[in-house]
Amino acid sequence: MKQLLKFLAAGVMAVLILAGCGSGDKAGEQTGASAGGGKDDKLQIVTTYSILYDIVKNIGGDRVEIHSLAPVGSNPHEYDPLPLDIQKATDADAIFYNGLNLEAGNSWFEKLLDTSGKSGEDAPVFRLSEGVEAKHLTTKGKEGEEDPHAWLDIRNGIKYAENAKEALIKADPEHREVYEKNAKEYIAQLEELHKEAVANFNKIPKEKRYLVTSEGAFKYFSAAYDFDAGYIWEINAENQGTPQQVKRIVDIIKERKVPVLFVETSIDPRSMEMVSKETGVPIGGKLFTDSLGKPGEDGDTYIKMMESNIKVILDNLEEK
Ligand SMILES: [Zn+2]
Repeated sequence: MKQLLKFLAAGVMAVLILAGCGSGDKAGEQTGASAGGGKDDKLQIVTTYSILYDIVKNIGGDRVEIHSLAPVGSNPHEYDPLPLDIQKATDADAIFYNGLNLEAGNSWFEKLLDTSGKSGEDAPVFRLSEGVEAKHLTTKGKEGEEDPHAWLDIRNGIKYAENAKEALIKADPEHREVYEKNAKEYIAQLEELHKEAVANFNKIPKEKRYLVTSEGAFKYFSAAYDFDAGYIWEINAENQGTPQQVKRIVDIIKERKVPVLFVETSIDPRSMEMVSKETGVPIGGKLFTDSLGKPGEDGDTYIKMMESNIKVILDNLEEK
């Protein structure tokens, strides 16, 4: 908190400078995209991480200018907002977050809303997972906590898109038709993608549908696509890769004769490499969980990241 305030005090100049330079690696930073002077006319949006950025962008289209917080490739469970983030949140017409215990590490998002004057009841802050039936953690002592990774079930991605549409209409009712049209087209694509996922995963025999990843991000996914899932640690907010956690999953892998392991694009692979070494089971590929790929690279939209996951899982489990 102190750090945030310090940033704020020094903030205005830094913000001007950063804004002028364009700011590097952020997901979908739109700086400079509206050089024609249309900027004031667009809705100023903040999203907490890249996957929400992409979903909101698909619904908002040209009507929105989006600043995304946790950078591509990083872990949105924990994030330290920069001065520019605070400025963008202060100026935002709408802020979108996942909820379900995602942006909870060190209460970073709650603090950001406080600092940027967006913590009131009427503040335009929207939880995109609204209406999703929450799944819960199972680690001892954390059983009451929600698991955030709802978007890995594409049907929940459709809920996120619907929620984004409603929120944008609320923030900018004049352009209702644009948001409705964009949402209709985007949701049709997501429905198609979900069907494609089901059809593809049905090619994998049930007994082989077991995913081992570093973080246990696949609860919603597993329920949607009839998989079981194992992990080293259950959620990124806890101790990651302790000897007990490694031993636990090593035992499970041996017992179930798991043929292949997976790593995530937004998580340090070293713990899984250790598990691979101890079990002799290879790492078959990288899955997208908490972040899109870098712009221009594999998985750089929600649809592409899910397509990539479908392909990587199929390539590994169909053949072995
Ligand atoms: Zn996660």
